[in-house]
Amino acid sequence: MGIECETCGAPAQPGVVKCFYCGRPVNEEIAKNAIACPACKELNVWGAQRCIKCQAWVVVQCVFCGAISPHTMSACMGCNEAFAGAPERKAARDAAVQSQQNVQTAVAVGGVAASFLGAVAGGVIGGLLDD
Ligand SMILES: [Zn+2]
Ligand SMILES: [Zn+2]
Ligand SMILES: [Zn+2]
Repeated sequence: MGIECETCGAPAQPGVVKCFYCGRPVNEEIAKNAIACPACKELNVWGAQRCIKCQAWVVVQCVFCGAISPHTMSACMGCNEAFAGAPERKAARDAAVQSQQNVQTAVAVGGVAASFLGAVAGGVIGGLLDD
């Protein structure tokens, strides 16, 4: 545990990209993966969910799998769905699944109706034969 600033050697605070003392990124790795806050542009470390400065969300949640990815990513890190137009695609897929379920329900109801009618028809024929 404990990272030191590569520039001045000061102990870095966890979750903070820029050194408290010299204002430079603590190290290259952290700077490379840093996520700029969409609201205040403050750099946040990779894995942060809210801006250390203004508490704005720096991650987005995938509507498909629920995984969170930095807002700078163009696609979900969990399922690779592109974020652009994701809610619309989700809605379209949900609608497709819904209509498919409706078709299945209709088939099931149709089957029940057919066997019910068949039983009635058999009963009528049986009655006729008894006479
Ligand atoms: Zn420093
Ligand atoms: Zn911010
Ligand atoms: Zn996803």
